[in-house]
Amino acid sequence: MNSLSDIKNYKTLAVMGGTFDPIHYGHLVAAETVRQELNIEHVLFIPSGRPPHKQKTRVAGDEHRYLMTVLATANNPYFDVSRMEIDRPGMTYTIDTIKEIRSQCSEDCKLYFITGADAAAEIISWKDPHELVKLCQIVAVTRPGYDKSKIFYELRKAGISPYSFTFLEVPALSISSTDIRNRVSVGKTIRYLLPESVEQYINKLKLYNYQHYWETEPMITEINKKLHYMLSPKRFVHTQGVADESVKLAKIHGADEKKAYLAGLLHDCAKDFSSKEKLKMCDKYGIELDEILVNQSDLTHAFLGAELARDMFGVTDEEVLGAIRYHTTGKPDMTKLEKIVYLADFFEPSRQYFDGIKEIKQYAYEDLDTAVAFSLDHTIEYNRSKNRLIHPLSLQALEYYKGSLPKK
Ligand code: NAP
Repeated sequence: MNSLSDIKNYKTLAVMGGTFDPIHYGHLVAAETVRQELNIEHVLFIPSGRPPHKQKTRVAGDEHRYLMTVLATANNPYFDVSRMEIDRPGMTYTIDTIKEIRSQCSEDCKLYFITGADAAAEIISWKDPHELVKLCQIVAVTRPGYDKSKIFYELRKAGISPYSFTFLEVPALSISSTDIRNRVSVGKTIRYLLPESVEQYINKLKLYNYQHYWETEPMITEINKKLHYMLSPKRFVHTQGVADESVKLAKIHGADEKKAYLAGLLHDCAKDFSSKEKLKMCDKYGIELDEILVNQSDLTHAFLGAELARDMFGVTDEEVLGAIRYHTTGKPDMTKLEKIVYLADFFEPSRQYFDGIKEIKQYAYEDLDTAVAFSLDHTIEYNRSKNRLIHPLSLQALEYYKGSLPKK
């Protein structure tokens, strides 16, 4: 009997709750030790959803944390992983998880909830702690030398019996997820701290490989999550490329790097809507539709993108919104940020090759005005060859920047 489908037959079952960002040998050794020491039939790992205390600090997405937990536990027949918390909408509370598990297993099944002692020490601030300890035994796994006196004091004060808790010291828990994330971000080895499959996953997906402090901010994480749903995979990769290139250009030309990143990330947020949806949204946001925008509705995505960035993504910075709004047409007298995003869009690494791409990149690294003039000239010529109408803003922009065109 060793799979989750047997849940009804278990007499003892442990839920292993944690963020697992990422899962490591400390977690695995802890779960296996508890299983053996307390004679538990099966351990169900549940990567946490959105617990109220973790709104600011999580870094890898839910799917990554889930998949890494699956990879790490795959070779242990006594371990399983549940998506229960990451699929549950809204805030996640352990009491709801335990109730859900309780409803699936037999009435006489003894339930355990294993987690780190530091997390368990906060139990009195969790939802319905008194009910929680009635439904399951809490197993707090500790690093060596953990001082239990404070938690006993807090439990007694809250009227919870310390016998609701079992403490187990697990030396391997000196490994920590925070340390692993920090190591990855500065290029240090994480070998032997976690299963090789998880290490490979982290490397392949470049998790925790943050170059800039803002990449782990909740607003950016949320934006990435939404874009992931709104854009095709190809477009999503493109937006990441534009964000990175925009940061590089901002660094070279002395613009705000974080604003450049944000504008690059969101520049195409409205791109993958259908023509009909785009035109409907233009109506909603009061974007005036001239003949060109009606016939080439794709051109609206930049104007719409700025509105969505404000409305859906909470961006209020006018400089960032301007860089999104004019990234396709350009305009006369662009701000530094507008030029940067306009240009990065041409040559980010996943962009398909076209004549002129090398020159645009080279000019962009040297002089923004020359690069803008060259790109406008090139784009207008190309669109005319395709019999497309040219947006007046682009024509006005070329007129404005033509003095910066490179000498032929
Ligand atoms: P955390 O604050 O990220 O972790 C606190 C400490 O405990 C860290 O040192 C962590 O080490 C360790 N830890 C966490 N889970 C562990 C595990 N399963 N085994 C061994 N060590 C572990 O805590 P968290 O991960 O967010 O929360 C732990 C559990 O408590 C989750 O299931 C969460 O949903 C639950 N929780 C519920 C509520 C609520 O219901 N209101 C509130 C808070 C937490 P690493 O960083 O190395 O993992």
